[in-house]
Amino acid sequence: MKSAIIIILLTLLTSCANIPTIDELFDRESSQAIDRSGNIMKIVVIDVGQGDSTLIISPEGEAMLIDTGNYIAGKHAILPLLEHEGIDELKYIVITHYHEDHVGGLAAIKMGHDEFDQTDDMQPTGGIYDRGAPTPTSIILDPSYALYALANAGYRESTRVGEQLDLGSVTLEIVASSGLLADGTKVEGVDPEDENASSIALIIEYSGFRMFVGGDITGGGGSPPYQTPDVESELAPLVGDIDVLKVSHHGSKTSTNQRFLDVTTPEFAIISVGENDHGHPHASVIERLLDSGIEIYQTEAGALASDDPIVADGNIVIEVNDDGEYTVNY
Ligand SMILES: [Zn+2]
Repeated sequence: MKSAIIIILLTLLTSCANIPTIDELFDRESSQAIDRSGNIMKIVVIDVGQGDSTLIISPEGEAMLIDTGNYIAGKHAILPLLEHEGIDELKYIVITHYHEDHVGGLAAIKMGHDEFDQTDDMQPTGGIYDRGAPTPTSIILDPSYALYALANAGYRESTRVGEQLDLGSVTLEIVASSGLLADGTKVEGVDPEDENASSIALIIEYSGFRMFVGGDITGGGGSPPYQTPDVESELAPLVGDIDVLKVSHHGSKTSTNQRFLDVTTPEFAIISVGENDHGHPHASVIERLLDSGIEIYQTEAGALASDDPIVADGNIVIEVNDDGEYTVNY
C-alpha cells in the first residue's frame, strides 16, 4: 500500500512543469576534483534545475544537505554528486520548507541509486530537520509533502530557532523557522500556509567564514494580493555580516531586499535557478546585488536577461580553509 501511494505521488510530481530532463541533468558538469587534504570545508550549491539543494562537507568529512531539489534532481544530480564526492553517509538533511523543488528529492535520495549500489545507506544518521508538522490542509494534502512525510517517517526532527547543528568543526545556527526568529520575535503576517515566508534560515560558519541559506524566505516584495511578509528586514540584524549569500527564492523579486543586503554585506551571491515561468532571477534583484558591489554566480541562466552574473551551467563550489579564506568556483 505504501509503495502504491509513493508511485502515485511520484507520477504526480514528475508530471509537473519545469522539471529538467534526465539527459539535461546527466550532461551537467560535476564539481571540481576532490581534495580532502588540509582543513577545507566544501559547500556545493548543486545544479538541480529550478530548485534548491546545498551539500556541505566538513573538514572532517562529515556531510549534510540543505534541501533536496525535486525528485528527478535527487536521483540524477544529488546522488551522483554524493557518489563523486565519495560520500556514503549523511549526518543531516535540513528541509527549509515543503515545496516540491526543495523537498521532492528526499524520497529519491533515501531510495539510493542502483547504479552506485546506494541502497538505504543515505538515511541521515543525525536526522532530517524541518520546521515541524504543519496543520493547514493545503500543505498536508500536497503530494510533495505527503511523499516527504512517508519517506522520512521515524527520522524527522523539528528545528528550534537558536538551535545549533554541528557538522565536525562546522556549525549551523538556525536563525528563523515558521516566521519565528532566533531572538524570539514572531514576524508579523507570516501565515502558517505561507511556505516561502515560513522557510528555515540558517548560517553556516567555519573559521570565521559565514554563509546564509534561507530557502525561499521573503523580503516584503510583491503587489497585493501577492505581497509577501518582510521576514528579511527583521532577520538581517540577527544574521549580521556574512561572506556568501545563497540568494533566497531563486532570485524572486519578493526576496533579497536592500535592507538585508545593507546589513549582511555579502561579497558573493549564489542563485540556484533553472528554467522557470516565474521570472527568476528578477532583474531588480540582479540590479540590487550588483549595485551593492556583490559578485553573482548562478547555477543556470533561468530568466536572466543580463550578462553580469556568472552562469555556471553546473554546480557552484565554495571552499574555505581554516583561516576563513575562501574561493568560489564552478
Ligand atoms: Zn523554491
